[in-house]
Amino acid sequence: MNVYDSEQMSAVLAPLGYQLCDTPDSADMVILNTCHIREKATEKVFSELGRLRNRKQAMAAAGQDLLIAVAGCVAQAEGPEILSRAPYVDMVIGPQTYHRLPELVAKADSHSRKQAKGQFRGAGLIDTEFPSDVKFDHLPKASGGRRAAAFLSIQEGCDKFCSFCVVPYTRGAEYSRPVKQVLDEARQLAALGVREVTLLGQNVNAYHGEAGDGREWGLGRLLRALAEIDGLERLRYTTSHPRDVDDDLIAAHGEVDKIMPFLHLPVQSGSDHMLAAMNRKHSADEYRGIIDRLRTARPDLVLSSDFIVGHPGERDRDFADTLRLINDIGFTQAYSFKYSPRPGTPAAAALDQVPEAVKSERLAGLQQLLNAQQLAFNHAAEGTTQAVLFERAGNQDGQLVGRGPYMQSIHCAGPESLIGQIAAVEITAGHANSLAGVLKPTAPAATNGTERIQA
Ligand code: SAH
Ligand code: SF4
Repeated sequence: MNVYDSEQMSAVLAPLGYQLCDTPDSADMVILNTCHIREKATEKVFSELGRLRNRKQAMAAAGQDLLIAVAGCVAQAEGPEILSRAPYVDMVIGPQTYHRLPELVAKADSHSRKQAKGQFRGAGLIDTEFPSDVKFDHLPKASGGRRAAAFLSIQEGCDKFCSFCVVPYTRGAEYSRPVKQVLDEARQLAALGVREVTLLGQNVNAYHGEAGDGREWGLGRLLRALAEIDGLERLRYTTSHPRDVDDDLIAAHGEVDKIMPFLHLPVQSGSDHMLAAMNRKHSADEYRGIIDRLRTARPDLVLSSDFIVGHPGERDRDFADTLRLINDIGFTQAYSFKYSPRPGTPAAAALDQVPEAVKSERLAGLQQLLNAQQLAFNHAAEGTTQAVLFERAGNQDGQLVGRGPYMQSIHCAGPESLIGQIAAVEITAGHANSLAGVLKPTAPAATNGTERIQA
């Protein structure tokens, strides 16, 4: 989501003459787009700001300006604190007001021009409202260079209030973009050469966008309509919630070839006791049932998930339930985290916090199991042929990097002219985080010529 938001911010600022540059050292404005989901991410913002302060001071001494903005969810949650801890910051802007960035930049620019040489006090502007106008109506249309894969935000915010999570407080209430807007943006992306679109939302399958006739479409229906767009070959979506997986979405996985056979469906824990404490509103067996139905619809579907260990109240037997669920289902990728208390969330105030050492031990055990499953899946790909969408040149000369249908990163030797295209690759080696292979020169550019991988 932040990658997408950063792209939108750069598009909003382009008419003012701003262009992206590779390092902060050559920039005359730096925007930190921040994440508030765990404490570690928040801490990074302040250490990064410390570095930027030094640069701003050095530039001021040379009679130059460096504008500093903090955007994203840390800005939303801690705006006033940022300005008091880092008075050299010019702008603090929350995720719902990016379309107003040009106004802030103009004000900050005029503030810094008025300062004497050597002074580097920030303009201290803050915009963290949840405005009544919708930012998507003001953001520029998709543009930019040729890309093979792109994000498309269709939904934002969340009304679920899981015990541990700041999203409902920082991103605000659930909102779905209207169907036409989404389809128009997808058509523009396809016209720009994009072959794969990943639909984004904090709760992407809670999507209920309004269609032209005033009715609401769910995600399944939207995916079917997107699959009709010429040029778009692959559809993915993230992040979804088990409670919002409905029959139509499951059926779409079976019926629409363009929906890739990989789904990120966070479960957080395999213990009913913890799922209740987390306010997830489903049981571990209900999750297993959803996976069964999805796999019945699309037998080669593989899964990824998010896990939290050490949420308040987690006992050894709860953790054992999580390991059991992982063993039962089998994941080909996963993100796992130690519970991090977030200010203002119910779990942060709970009295039964789990000691740090226990969290670390559980995380290590969990990751060992998940890594073993991922490696087994990658090994199982050896000898198969995968349809790879090439996204970029690799680090080595003549190397291309792309993704297979199952979301594996795949590299092989090949001409750069293949970037943006789908081609068949025979897999020769499965590593921990990627696959290596060789191009099959005679094979037609297959989109669905995927050999099923079984771990
Ligand atoms: N909407 C998605 C998740 C969004 S947040 C869902 O409901 O599953 C992304 C992930 O960050 C979560 O799935 C969770 O695993 C992790 N996360 C969120 N808050 C956290 C916290 N306080 N501590 C540790 N991990 C957290
Ligand atoms: Fe956070 Fe996801 Fe729960 Fe919403 S559903 S509160 S985004 S973890």
